[in-house]
Amino acid sequence: MTHRVTLIPGDGIGPELADATRRVLDATGVGFEWEVVHAGEAVMAEYGTPLPDHVLESIRRNRVALKGPITTPVGEGFRSVNVTLRQALGLYANVRPVRTIPGIESRYDDVDLVIVRENTEDLYAGIEHMVGRDAAESIKIITREASERIARYAFEYALANGRRKVTAVHKANIMKLSDGLFLESCRTVAAPYEGRVEFEDRIVDNMCMQLVQKPDLYDVLVLPNLYGDIVSDLAAGLVGGLGVAPGANIGLESAVFEPVHGSAPKYAGQDRANPTALILSGVLMLRHLGEPAAAERLEGAIRAVIAEGRTVTYDLGGTVGTRAFADAIVARLGTTPAVLPA
Ligand code: NAD
Repeated sequence: MTHRVTLIPGDGIGPELADATRRVLDATGVGFEWEVVHAGEAVMAEYGTPLPDHVLESIRRNRVALKGPITTPVGEGFRSVNVTLRQALGLYANVRPVRTIPGIESRYDDVDLVIVRENTEDLYAGIEHMVGRDAAESIKIITREASERIARYAFEYALANGRRKVTAVHKANIMKLSDGLFLESCRTVAAPYEGRVEFEDRIVDNMCMQLVQKPDLYDVLVLPNLYGDIVSDLAAGLVGGLGVAPGANIGLESAVFEPVHGSAPKYAGQDRANPTALILSGVLMLRHLGEPAAAERLEGAIRAVIAEGRTVTYDLGGTVGTRAFADAIVARLGTTPAVLPA
C-alpha cells in the first residue's frame, strides 16, 4: 500500500532535514507518495499569505503531513504559520515523547516522558491589543471543552500505551479562573480512570524543578498550550536537546508530524543540523499510518547509529553533517536486524 503524505519542508534548516527524512523514510520500504507544498515567508510574495489555502487543502485531503520548522518573525510580522495551521486543522493534541537515547551524553540515562500539550487555545489564541501607547494585553483563553478534550486524550494515550500516570501541570494558584478551569477539567476527566491510570497535578514552576531533578517520577504530562511549549524544550534538554525531540499534532480529521525545534536560521543551508527529531517524527507518523514494523526498524536504526557515535552531528558530539547522518541510518536500515538494544 502506498501512503499519500503532504510534505512541508519549511524554512531555515527545514528543507535539508526534510530531504534527509524523506530519503530515510523511503528506505524503510514503505510506499510513500509525497505531495510537496510550501509555507512560510518564501511564499508570501506569490500567494499574499505564508499559509496558502492549497497547503491546508493538501493536508485535509491526505489527512497526514510531515512538516519541517517554519520561521516566525519576532515581535512583528505575520502570525505563526505553525500555530495557524494547528488551529485551522483542529490539531488539538501536541504529543511529544521524550526518551533517553543511549549514546547521547545527558544528565540521566532513563528518561521516558510524554508531553501532551493543548494545541488550540491559551495565549496562542492570538488575541492581543495595545492599551494606549505604553501597555499591551494578551488574552488567555481556556475553555472546559478544550481542556477536557486534551485531558481525555492524555488518559486514553496512557491506557493505549501502558503508561501508569498522568500529571496535570498548571498555575491555578495564581490564575484561579483560567488555569483553575484547566485543572478542574483534568480532575473531572481523571475520575472515571481511577484505578487504571493514576492522576496528580503540579504547579508549573515546581514541575520544571522536579523535571530537572527527578524526571523518573513522571510519566505522561498534560499541559495548556504555553506551559506545554516551554516544558517540551526543557524535557528535550534532558535527553540531548532539540535535535532529537520529535512531535505529533493530532486532530480528529488529520495529523501533522513535526519536530519540537524551530528553523535554527544560523545553521540553515550548512548541512550541519541533526535530522533525528524530524526522522523520529517520521517514526511517529509510520505508527499513525499503521506501519509499526517499519517504525520499529527505523527507530532501531537511528538508535544504533547514535549508539555507535561515529556518524552523528555536532550537537551529539560528532563531526558529520545532516546528509551523512541520514546516509548512515539508510545503510543501517539495510543491514540491521529488526530489534536493536534499547
Ligand atoms: P530553534 O529550535 O530553531 O533553535 C534553537 C537552537 O537549538 C539552535 O540555535 C540550535 O543550537 C539548536 N537546534 C535546533 N534544532 C536543531 C537541530 N535539528 N540540530 C541541531 N541543533 C538544533 O529555536 P529558535 O532559535 O528559538 O527559533 C528559530 C525560529 O524557529 C523562530 O522563528 C521560531 O518562531 C521558529 N520555531 C518554529 C517552530 C515550528 O516550526 N514548529 C518551533 C519552534 C520555533
